[in-house]
Amino acid sequence: MIAGGGLVGLTAAASLKSIGHDVVVLEQAPQIRAVGAGIGLWANALREFEHLGIGSEIRGAGVEQNTWFFNPAGDPVRAPGYTDSDHRFLLVPRAELNDLLADTIGRDRIRLGAQVTGYTETDADVLVHLADGETLRADLLIGADGVHSRVRGQLVPGSDAVRHPGHYAWRAIVPTGDQDPAATVLTVGHRRTRGGYARIAHGRTMWMVNQFDAGPLTGSRRERALERARNLAEAGWNDELLALIAETPEESILENQVTLVPELPRWTSARVALIGDAAHGLSPHIASGGTLGIEDVGVLRGSLTAEADLEKALAIYERARAARFDAVREHSAAVEHACDAAEFAQRYAAFSHWMLTTAPVT
Ligand SMILES: Cc1cc2nc3c(=O)[nH]c(=O)nc-3n(C[C@H](O)[C@H](O)[C@H](O)COP(=O)(O)OP(=O)(O)OC[C@H]3O[C@@H](n4cnc5c(N)ncnc54)[C@H](O)[C@@H]3O)c2cc1C
Repeated sequence: MIAGGGLVGLTAAASLKSIGHDVVVLEQAPQIRAVGAGIGLWANALREFEHLGIGSEIRGAGVEQNTWFFNPAGDPVRAPGYTDSDHRFLLVPRAELNDLLADTIGRDRIRLGAQVTGYTETDADVLVHLADGETLRADLLIGADGVHSRVRGQLVPGSDAVRHPGHYAWRAIVPTGDQDPAATVLTVGHRRTRGGYARIAHGRTMWMVNQFDAGPLTGSRRERALERARNLAEAGWNDELLALIAETPEESILENQVTLVPELPRWTSARVALIGDAAHGLSPHIASGGTLGIEDVGVLRGSLTAEADLEKALAIYERARAARFDAVREHSAAVEHACDAAEFAQRYAAFSHWMLTTAPVT
């Protein structure tokens, strides 16, 4: 039983079903919806989708990016010693990705409007409690219920997600018709602003703006995003971004206060496991939280296949992921604190190269 039908919960359901498990996804929302505009998926995540037989469909739904970073003067920056393969990922509209995953699992395996409030674990099973008073029985409960995970709250009391004060992200997907941008533009701007835009599908472009120490938020979401985006470029070289934001309908703009999950002393018990943001919601600057959540799925699938004893299988999963995340946290902090485009490019490439070359093979 999987609490949470976001990207990682849906991928977990599809993967565990593919190795013969009888899966049920419990999603609190009334529909499979994807919070967020688009998501960058790296090669390590795409391998799990290949395993599920939907790799080519997912590739077809997105656009491959070969990223360059820009400083506020408009100079393209890349760290020496790294190659295109350290900068390539697939940008996919989240809603289409989640829909494809839901179809892969089978919609009859997904219960919508099912909010998990807690669980009771025994030697023989785990009872999953829903907000409407219903109790469901499972052999294994996977908490894929995001940064504010109820499952984590019970497994690791006192592990509430923490708001990162002043740290916000704005983003949207907008129709651009035949005016799709030719290149991906990611700028590390003045006043701790980062952002840019990229083509996400034919005729659609995604833009994003990230701001530390945002100060008071005034005006509409569009005005808030525009105010910060003006720090991203000097002398008008990047006016496309401002034009994209200005043309975006207010209701299409997502505004998020960045929220972080503290480092956990445990990810599992004998019959409960955390995956995805529920286990490791991080700062968005490495743009890999979803990708690493999909890695979690591959490792969990591998350990459940290799080890018949559930508690031992979950312990194998926890050991592998906690060790990997010790390094992810170091990289994430380094990328987050980079002071300019050159340092960001260096630290980002060091992270993506490390992530891709040490990714678990499952
Ligand atoms: C601005 C930004 C940009 C990002 N860019 C990237 C990127 O480019 N690449 C990348 O890999 N990652 C990126 N990430 C990170 C990525 O978005 C997350 O890591 C990923 O979405 C986590 O997926 P998840 O399924 O674990 O959690 P979520 O997507 O949060 O899904 C959790 C699901 O659980 C449901 N739920 C919650 N509580 C309950 C409950 N009690 N009962 C039942 N259901 C429940 C929710 O409704 C939701 O559907 C970014 C994050 C941000 C904020």
